[in-house]
Amino acid sequence: MPDTHALGILGGTFDPIHFGHLRLAQEVADALSLSEVRFIPGGTPPHRAAPHSSAQHRVAMVRLAIEDNPLFVLDERETRRDGPSYTFDTLAALRAELGAAQPLVLIMGADAFTAFNRWHRWRDIFALAHIAVAHRPGAALMQINDTALQQAFLQRRTDNGEAVHRAPAGCVIEVPITALDISATAIRGLLQARRSARYLMPPAVLEYIEHNYLFLRGNFDNAAG
Ligand code: ATP
Repeated sequence: MPDTHALGILGGTFDPIHFGHLRLAQEVADALSLSEVRFIPGGTPPHRAAPHSSAQHRVAMVRLAIEDNPLFVLDERETRRDGPSYTFDTLAALRAELGAAQPLVLIMGADAFTAFNRWHRWRDIFALAHIAVAHRPGAALMQINDTALQQAFLQRRTDNGEAVHRAPAGCVIEVPITALDISATAIRGLLQARRSARYLMPPAVLEYIEHNYLFLRGNFDNAAG
C-alpha cells in the first residue's frame, strides 16, 4: 500500500447515476490504491446537451448511491457554480485547496477519453491530474482519431499503478474494469417506456426516481425540479 493518498475524481452528468459509474469508481480506486473518490456532478455541461433532470435531483441521486461507501465523497462545487463547469477549473480549484504535491487522478470511461481533445484546455489538464481511463463497452481507445490526443496518450501512458503516487499529475493509465454496458441514456429510455430499470442502479436511487416522477417524458423534462 503506497504512503501517499492519491485522490480520485469522477465527474459526470449522473442523469441518473448507475452501477456503471459505481463499479468504475470502485475498481479504479482498488486498482490504483486511491484513498478517496470524489463524485462531482456537473452543472451546465459545456460539451453536451443540458441534463434531463435538475442539478438538485442529480446531486440527491449521487448522495443516495454513495452514502454507504466510506471511500466515496460527494463534491457539489460544480452544481453550486453559475455558468459552465469546466473540468480544468474544477481541477485547478482542487489543486489550490489540496496543494501542489497531492496526486489527483481524473477517472473517466474510454468514451470520454476519446473525445478529451474537445475539452476546454485539455492539454493543461495533464499538469493538474493523472488520468485513469477505464474500458467501456462500445468505446475502444483505438478509436482516438485526433493526432494530438493520440500523441499525448502515447507519451503519457503507463502500466504501472504506482506512477500515480510518485507524481502529482501527468500520467495516463488504462484500467481494465468489469464491462457493464449500462448508460444513463438507456436507463432514461427504459423509464420513459415505463419499463423496469431495476438492477441497473442502487434501489435507493430507483426509489428516488419513482418518488419524484423523474425521466417519465422526453428531453428537458423535470428541468426546473
Ligand atoms: P449518458 O448516457 O447520459 O451519456 P453516461 O451513462 O455515459 O450518461 P456520464 O455521467 O456521462 O454517464 O458519465 C460519467 C463518466 O462515467 C464518464 O467518464 C463515462 O465514460 C463513465 N461511465 C459511465 N458509464 C460507464 C460504464 N458503464 N462503464 C464505464 N464507464 C462509464
